[in-house]
Amino acid sequence: MNTTNGMVDFHCHLDLYPDHQAAVLEADEAGVYTLAVTTTPKAWVRNHKLAKKTHHVRAAIGLHPQLVAERSGEISLWETHLAETRYVGEVGLDAGPRFYKSFDLQKQIFERVLRCCAVAGGKIISVHSVRAAKVVLDHIEAYLPPSRGKVVLHWFTGTKTEAKRAIDMGCYFSINAAMLNNARHASMVTAIPFDRLLTETDGPFTRTADRPSKPADVALVIEALGELKSLPTTTILERVRKNLHNLLS
Ligand code: MN
Repeated sequence: MNTTNGMVDFHCHLDLYPDHQAAVLEADEAGVYTLAVTTTPKAWVRNHKLAKKTHHVRAAIGLHPQLVAERSGEISLWETHLAETRYVGEVGLDAGPRFYKSFDLQKQIFERVLRCCAVAGGKIISVHSVRAAKVVLDHIEAYLPPSRGKVVLHWFTGTKTEAKRAIDMGCYFSINAAMLNNARHASMVTAIPFDRLLTETDGPFTRTADRPSKPADVALVIEALGELKSLPTTTILERVRKNLHNLLS
């Protein structure tokens, strides 16, 4: 038993570390319930194979919006494997300047993803929404009835009003340390009810102590959430674990 036992990293790219297998084993040994999201459906098979041998790691099948310009053709492969998992991600929309040229195509792909999830039912979806909170929520509202799947907004940076809309739609939020280091984003996090909060690292895309974050680093997110909410870290940890349980049941 170690100090990170039972923590939750609901969005981490374990397959993007130098040693994928070692990253999976380390997360499992740390006792951190980790959602290993993927950026292309081609990565699914190996992620699933490594994750299913563990107690704490689960793989999600994704098609990252930043890759849609080059890889939209892989959506049929994504559909082929969808029945093999209840976890979907990373999917969503990115309207940042580097990816805006593919935004129309991203919207088509995201619509298809949500429609497929609605047909299948019971999926839990980790969603990217950079500079696209409104359109992401419009899509979810239009194509995924709340009874047909659950959405976890990853690294959400929309406004408080947009967060409120997402809350009313039943969305969860996975919060990372970078969000809490930003005054505007931290203020938005205070508007999210405690029962919708999960934690994430988005490793290796975030850094902790000058190295890429790993799942055990969610300990720092839990600490920061404790400060934000003036509650002991043990309370935050228990609550996040309970939220994960509710999300999965
Ligand atoms: Mn990510």
